[in-house]
Amino acid sequence: MKEFTTDISGYRPKVSQSEIEKVITDTTSGTTGKEKRVYYTRADLDKTVGIFMKGLSEVVEKKCIVCFPDTGPDSLGDLIARAIRNLGAEPVMAQKDMTYREILELCDGCDSFVGFPQMLIALTRIKPGLFKKALISGDYCINVDYKIPVYPHYGSREMGLAGAISCRCRNGMHMRPDVDAEILEDGELVITTHLEAMPLERYRTGDYTCIIDGKCDCGSDWVKIGPVSRHNPIEKLDDEMFSKYEDLIDWRGDTLVFKDEIDKKPLFEGKRYL
Ligand SMILES: [Zn+2]
Repeated sequence: MKEFTTDISGYRPKVSQSEIEKVITDTTSGTTGKEKRVYYTRADLDKTVGIFMKGLSEVVEKKCIVCFPDTGPDSLGDLIARAIRNLGAEPVMAQKDMTYREILELCDGCDSFVGFPQMLIALTRIKPGLFKKALISGDYCINVDYKIPVYPHYGSREMGLAGAISCRCRNGMHMRPDVDAEILEDGELVITTHLEAMPLERYRTGDYTCIIDGKCDCGSDWVKIGPVSRHNPIEKLDDEMFSKYEDLIDWRGDTLVFKDEIDKKPLFEGKRYL
């Protein structure tokens, strides 16, 4: 079996420089300070738009607000806007320095939302019933009642921004078929990608999920994964340290519990959840 890929700083694209259409540079790769570059050809970007179209086709009707950064041609926001236009709908782009009031004004006539979950929560809290459906990506909040059908999406730069999409069943996310998924014993997702500019062999994503077995009711045979969580080493360390304290119920503050409820409910193993 092939070795894992963990460090992609210094990766040389598999196509000539002239075929590279976009480069995303990331300087936040851990404490090493190494710069990580991810390369895409036009065909890679077109595939991304295709996957976005598949995910968005469940969500968008006529007009959709896009609350992802649109920093220029082939940026995340721009690729999503292209997918929405390809579906025959109109994208409305929120800019990052806008106030909630300004974004709410833009939402006028929009039937759907694409963006970070926190933004969706904020907008619909101010104005309930704003959208019929939403596609969210990023650290989405699993236990939130969004009051509308929400379609989580999972993606990363290494898998071409579009990674896994929710179908109409909204029970897990289908991995794009040109990305092979492998789950390690501890739940970490390892991917093998087949993109033109930057194919990766057994890349450790640092994200944790599971594969949902069985045929999906939507009829798709794309592999389906469960909710994705991102662990970081500090969290693991905290887990190790704090889970030892007998009296500590919820060091993360994940759970909103009142004192009298604590007395009534039995505690599960691990102390993090009630
Ligand atoms: Zn499905």
